[in-house]
Parts: sequence; C-alpha cells; structure tokens
Amino acid sequence: MTTFAVWTPPPLTRADRCDRCSAAAQLRALLPTGGELMFCGHHGREHHARLRDIGAALHPDP
Ligand SMILES: [Zn+2]
Repeated sequence: MTTFAVWTPPPLTRADRCDRCSAAAQLRALLPTGGELMFCGHHGREHHARLRDIGAALHPDP
C-alpha cells in the first residue's frame, strides 16, 4: 500500500508567475525541501520530468 501525501494548494491566479520567464504560471511544484516553484506551460513541460526525478509534487499533475 502506497501512501501519497495529499497536497491541495490554492489555485493559481494571474498574480502567480513562472519562476523562469515570468509568464502566467500554470504549474506549481512543491519541492521535497519545502520550496515551491511555479512554471508557465512551456517551462512546466520542460522541467516536469526533472521535478518528478527529485520527488517534487506537481499540481496540477501533468
Ligand atoms: Zn516560463
């Protein structure tokens, strides 16, 4: 039996910006270290495999 941490962050708003290019954020990533990153669609796709590798929780899950 696998236990998943339930993580339900607040919805992204227009005030949330990609950490890479400052476009509107579409993906939120919670890092195992407790940090949080936001990505636009482009950078979300670019980084999501890497984020998964390091154990980050992604929302919405691609
Ligand atoms: Zn971006």
